[in-house]
Amino acid sequence: MIQMAVQNRAAVSDEEYARRLDTCWNCPSLQYESTCRHCGCLVAVRAKLSDSICPYPGQSRW
Ligand code: SF4
Repeated sequence: MIQMAVQNRAAVSDEEYARRLDTCWNCPSLQYESTCRHCGCLVAVRAKLSDSICPYPGQSRW
């Protein structure tokens, strides 16, 4: 599913992807162990896209 979602879009390196996901897994805004409460998207997809930002209010966390 992740590969389909990021198809034809620039993706971050595996290292950056792991760093972003680690931040999400430890974020109070993560819901259902999968979804960011601020954008409603699956963090496993959002974190893979190089043009994505973390929508945490006030300060992006990655
Ligand atoms: S606010 Fe940022 S770090 Fe937190 S779950 Fe959403 S995308 Fe991840």
